[in-house]
Amino acid sequence: MGLSRRQFMQWLSATTAAAGAGFSPAARGAAARVVVVGGGFAGATAAKYIRMWAPDIAVTLVEREPEFISCPLSNRVLAGVVKLKDLTRGYGKLQARYGVRVVQDEVVAIDNAAQQVQLASGQVLKYDRLIVAPGVDLLPAEVPGLPEGSERILHAWKAGPQTIALHKQLEAMHDGGVYAITIPKAPYRCPPGPYERACQVAWYFKAHKPKSKVLILDANEDVVSKKGLFTKAWTERYAGILEYRPNSEIVEVDAGAMTVKLAFEDVRADVLNVVPPQRAGKVALDAGLVNANGRWCSVDFLTYESTAVKNVHVLGDAIMAAPQMPKSGHMANQHAKVCAAAVISLLRSQAVSTQPLVTNTCYSFVSDKDVIHVASVHAYNAEKKTMEIVQGASGVSAVASELEGQYAESWGRNIWADMLG
Ligand SMILES: Cc1cc2nc3c(=O)[nH]c(=O)nc-3n(C[C@H](O)[C@H](O)[C@H](O)COP(=O)(O)OP(=O)(O)OC[C@H]3O[C@@H](n4cnc5c(N)ncnc54)[C@H](O)[C@@H]3O)c2cc1C
Repeated sequence: MGLSRRQFMQWLSATTAAAGAGFSPAARGAAARVVVVGGGFAGATAAKYIRMWAPDIAVTLVEREPEFISCPLSNRVLAGVVKLKDLTRGYGKLQARYGVRVVQDEVVAIDNAAQQVQLASGQVLKYDRLIVAPGVDLLPAEVPGLPEGSERILHAWKAGPQTIALHKQLEAMHDGGVYAITIPKAPYRCPPGPYERACQVAWYFKAHKPKSKVLILDANEDVVSKKGLFTKAWTERYAGILEYRPNSEIVEVDAGAMTVKLAFEDVRADVLNVVPPQRAGKVALDAGLVNANGRWCSVDFLTYESTAVKNVHVLGDAIMAAPQMPKSGHMANQHAKVCAAAVISLLRSQAVSTQPLVTNTCYSFVSDKDVIHVASVHAYNAEKKTMEIVQGASGVSAVASELEGQYAESWGRNIWADMLG
């Protein structure tokens, strides 16, 4: 029997009052409920690990896309070495093996007073703890002159149709053409990602269109990640093909002329790949979780609970990261595990761990097979209430190698299995 609108409103206000009165799941005599917004590296991992470590907790994961497509390794699609379908995985095992209820929908509003989220379909989900892991929104409006939704000037900074479209643009470009990638000021998603992309395009040109050029227009003062190793690849492997220009902040894009206007010059490209500035996903902004630089969500690094809104945890690229903590899939996966353990403890009124330790490894392909990495370990500093690099436990590859290429491919398969398998 369906509820009338009036009955529904009565139910809603009754449940709202109960939540407002602070009824715990135990007092309700029901299983605790966790809702996770976003099924990327952070959200999917958190959902799975809560169920794995605490099968008594009911977990619902809301993800708007039907399948997960990995950004890591997606730069290889541009070189034609990998297909996007090789980087695509389903959400079925989360449900079948771990009992995560996976809902394909979009969270359009968070009402923390009522402890519920509203979905685009109209469905309402109640929670005792909410985990928000929406990744980043790209902000083309912050690049003067860049048309929103342009099909010609792509970002391809979320793996999907744009990745394939950019690959097709490179294939269609004449030999002797110019590909230019613009990099926004840090912090942005995946610090080494744009430099890896430039290497992939340069490798493709060297193999298939040797008269063509790659231009990196970096708004930053210098290479943000793995500088020595990338510079070596550019000078030794791609001399005469790839050029790096620091301090190249975009003044304006002239989409018609396919030109980027910089402070002192105009740069024309045949394929223009503008990676715009970024911010935590809109759902976090709308919920009042964005409280750092108007872009990111500050969290307590012991629990990943928002410092702006109690009871709501934020993970992955959306957070205001600790110093030297990259916005990476690996790091998002680590946030998720610390948060999963903390959420379980909080729901059981137990103490949370005060010594979280997280790690990161980012591999970058500098050719079709050769890879370099950067790795770091980050421990909690109780005095400063932040995560800090553990000295002596971090580093980069000595040289690019095929062996690291095999590690990188294994890393991908392992992390996808860890979050979804
Ligand atoms: C080209 C490129 C290469 C990269 N290479 C690497 C690499 O080699 N190694 C590495 O570790 N990292 C890499 N990264 C970075 C990595 O992709 C991100 O750091 C990672 O995806 C962040 O995870 P996340 O869970 O925060 O966000 P995401 O993985 O983006 O997941 C967020 C999810 O939330 C969903 N969502 C958002 N809002 C809503 C809503 N309102 N309702 C429902 N669902 C919603 C989105 O659809 C999305 O699936 C790379 C990134 C790029 C672009």
